[in-house]
Amino acid sequence: MKRIGVYVCHCGTNIAPHVDVKEVADFAAQLPGVVMARDYDYMCSDPGQDLIKEDIKELGLTRVVVASCSPLMHEVTFRRACQGAGLNPFFFQMANIREQVSWVTEESEKATERAKHAVIAAIYRVANHEPLSVREVPVKPTALVVGGGIAGIEAALRVAESGKKVYLVEREPSIGGYMAQLFKTFPTLDCAA
Ligand code: SF4
Repeated sequence: MKRIGVYVCHCGTNIAPHVDVKEVADFAAQLPGVVMARDYDYMCSDPGQDLIKEDIKELGLTRVVVASCSPLMHEVTFRRACQGAGLNPFFFQMANIREQVSWVTEESEKATERAKHAVIAAIYRVANHEPLSVREVPVKPTALVVGGGIAGIEAALRVAESGKKVYLVEREPSIGGYMAQLFKTFPTLDCAA
């Protein structure tokens, strides 16, 4: 039986004024496998991370969900917190209720409902996580972009700008795709090619 802990972050005025974080936490507490759900001001702070660590040890949590910002911001932070308490860091799942909910939903009721859905998804997902371990493998920092249309050209340039070698392949004799077949583009009337 999984023992899931859920944490809903206020993020100061970023989430709490739009999403009823207490309601989301109370809702999460009723879901299968959830042994504890709470809301907290700043989950990424040291005291926020300590909460997770203490609960893992004291309540025997085997899975952790944090509903807060984008995983890009703090997924690694929370994985480390789990690991620090002896839990496999991949028994963690983040639900993004800031960038994908509070920042883009004006009505508080709708934002709260959306946040609940994000939390349900994270809970069901984390319950099925398998323990993983990190291993290092040699990687060639080289990319292959298939298709030399405007999207492929743009992708190839972006990767190249980050310092990687890029191979751009195109089945036609020239690159540019449909864009290169146009005469002018609206509204600037630039030459498409
Ligand atoms: S975890 Fe993310 S959402 Fe929460 S306080 Fe930190 S930055 Fe804000």
